[in-house]
Amino acid sequence: MIEYCEESPDGWARRVTESWSIEETPTGVRIWGDCPTCWHRSTTQVDKTVGVKGSGRAAGDPLPVAVICDCTEPHSGRPDGVNGCGRGGYIDVFLEDPR
Ligand SMILES: [Zn+2]
Ligand SMILES: [Zn+2]
Repeated sequence: MIEYCEESPDGWARRVTESWSIEETPTGVRIWGDCPTCWHRSTTQVDKTVGVKGSGRAAGDPLPVAVICDCTEPHSGRPDGVNGCGRGGYIDVFLEDPR
């Protein structure tokens, strides 16, 4: 079993960018795929208004999104009330219409 650890391994975010699916929802975007560290399914919900507000983004600019493993499988050493294996990173999401 992979032990819980809060870290951003080299290449973690890149593998998320390459392999995860992105879907626009009425309120933002949903990003999901298999965590590159523990290979469990994880989903990240992003509220578009929070991500865009006050950032001065123009159309076509990438939206940096913090993605953290949110799997529901057990990992030893994990604090109570927390999901995932602790790994995370930032990926750039490109929205067709940022407004
Ligand atoms: Zn996991
Ligand atoms: Zn994980």
